[in-house]
Amino acid sequence: MPFVSLGLSPSLSNPLAKLGYTTPTPVQLKSIPIVLSGRDLLARAQTGTGKTAAFGLPMIDRLLVRGGVPAGVRKPRGLVLVPTRELALQVHKSLATYGVPANLRVTAIFGGVSIVPQKKELQRGTDIIVATPGRLLDHMEQRTVDLSGVQILTLDEADRMLDMGFLPPLRRILKVLPRERQTLLFSATISQDVVRLSADFTRDPQRVDVSEGQVMAPTVTHRVHPVSDQRKGDLLTHVLKQAPTGQALVFCKTKHGSNRVGQYLERAGVKAAVIHGNKSQGARTKALGDFKAGRVNVLVATDIAARGLDIVQLPLVVNFDLPLVAEDYIHRAGRTGRAGLSGRAVSLVSPADRDLLRDIQRLLSSPLEHVVVEGFPTTASSNDALPEAGRRHQGGRHHGRGFTGTRSGSRPHNVRTVRTVPRVRTVRSGA
Ligand code: AMP
Repeated sequence: MPFVSLGLSPSLSNPLAKLGYTTPTPVQLKSIPIVLSGRDLLARAQTGTGKTAAFGLPMIDRLLVRGGVPAGVRKPRGLVLVPTRELALQVHKSLATYGVPANLRVTAIFGGVSIVPQKKELQRGTDIIVATPGRLLDHMEQRTVDLSGVQILTLDEADRMLDMGFLPPLRRILKVLPRERQTLLFSATISQDVVRLSADFTRDPQRVDVSEGQVMAPTVTHRVHPVSDQRKGDLLTHVLKQAPTGQALVFCKTKHGSNRVGQYLERAGVKAAVIHGNKSQGARTKALGDFKAGRVNVLVATDIAARGLDIVQLPLVVNFDLPLVAEDYIHRAGRTGRAGLSGRAVSLVSPADRDLLRDIQRLLSSPLEHVVVEGFPTTASSNDALPEAGRRHQGGRHHGRGFTGTRSGSRPHNVRTVRTVPRVRTVRSGA
């Protein structure tokens, strides 16, 4: 079905083919007609599903193509709130691209950079603001932004905004917006908190759920490699060197851990860059630029820093550490397999991670494959400490069994026994 059949104006939908958008993604298919009708929306869709266009295109259509461009200095009529600077930049870029035919002016407002150019842009007039809550509040306090004309509000990655403690700033921002407006709420997970937020901020919203029991994009294959903590670094380099392009996003639990993994990879001869919350905006932008340009193959990141990164065709995501919150597994793995392309999510799981792994498996509707890589024991010293973790050999091949970290040998729900690909070899990387 072409975009124009969803009700989008031809002037907006025709140029989409040049971007490679030939057919709408499921979230676009369901959301665009609702947004165009003026109804509020509560949509469950993770990153990589095309959600930016799902709210961006109909917003631009309603505000500019149908609404027209008013005379005089333009007051913002659209507001998109996002949790992180990276997502602000990414959404800004997408909206600017979609909005070219409508002469859209879109302004990104986020912290970590000088406020002065943002003030100048706001003064010149803009149609849509894409903002992180903290910096938008700064502008409100300094009276450099006027939100009284906002007709459409989008809360993007609402679950993450709540996780990051943005509820109080959101409430303050919502207070100054007109009551008569359209509100769109997008979230990767619909928790009780998100439902409450929606009840407070939206009016009788239409629900869209593109996941429908299957939380992850079907194009992503998931694999768990049991390994001892001590050998994780070696296994990481092994996995990276086996990957066809060598390009990967590697997730770590902490900023300190990301630095350590980055240094480790560099020593092992893998070009890597690290991004986390302690890095300046300039350093993060450079790391992302180097990664996209292929100057570094591996980006090591914490969850928050990786949020909103738009990397098209990322083939591999590696969880060096499992996420502490199971939902973050979905956010992380959602970085690969985007827009119908295939991707792999690989988790390096030590015995201490068994509870985290169980939580993730509960959340996913499809089973995780457990594969023991030859030469990588799941405990530091002994092969028989975790007999269920797949140390059996058969016909020269290794069979991984469900890794639970328990000694019962019983297979947990959702765990499938798979054969290790025989050509997997151990690559030692000289830690
Ligand atoms: P998003 O979920 O908004 O971050 O989008 C994920 C990626 O999919 C981005 O790189 C978009 O440019 C791309 N994309 C969005 N919609 C489509 C579409 N209908 N066809 C092909 N690619 C798309």
